Amino acid sequence: MTTEPALSAASAASWDDLVERVQGCVACEELAASRTRVVPGVAPPRADVLLVGEAPGAQEDETGVPFVGRSGQLLDGLLGDAGLRRDQVAVANVLKCRPPANRKPRRTEVARCRPWLDRQLDLVDPVVVVALGGTAAEWFVGPGARIAALRDQGRVAPLLHRGRRLLVTYHPSAAIRFGPQGAPLAALREDLAEVVRVLAEVAR
Ligand code: SF4
Repeated sequence: MTTEPALSAASAASWDDLVERVQGCVACEELAASRTRVVPGVAPPRADVLLVGEAPGAQEDETGVPFVGRSGQLLDGLLGDAGLRRDQVAVANVLKCRPPANRKPRRTEVARCRPWLDRQLDLVDPVVVVALGGTAAEWFVGPGARIAALRDQGRVAPLLHRGRRLLVTYHPSAAIRFGPQGAPLAALREDLAEVVRVLAEVAR
């Protein structure tokens, strides 16, 4: 089976098939050598929402599960506060392998990994996609994407990605960094409430 991302991802017949295929991906030589494991993401059947973060951190790299560190714990709490059930929410990252010492993903790595997330979007087919943080925002909107500007823009007219509602918000790690009184935490709360509002609107 080829592990060239564009070919392998495009022919993945299901989420589980993609998860199996991505395990063998060595397209980024440095990341393939330094990772403990690939972290493809999780997707309950019929998830309404796909959350997209940046890349696995240390705990994700250890466990193979996305968002299990401090950011993940905060995110779980916020999802619960917003009234979102875990079985409604799929989670994936722009990069499936941890960059050494949690450095920022390189443009070349993001480009190489792109077909995997592209296919995940089609396989999950969510009602709403939520880009968490700058790297995910750039993945969807393009280089130079600014979260604050995109949030303002989204209030005027809904952002769309291939016909799906797209919300751009802060990464939970920014909410941790800026603290309980910081703007990112308040924005995340607002934006997850907006996800619930959009789901209710679509269900009507
Ligand atoms: S980051 Fe993506 S493209 Fe690079 S080796 Fe990992 S799975 Fe493959």
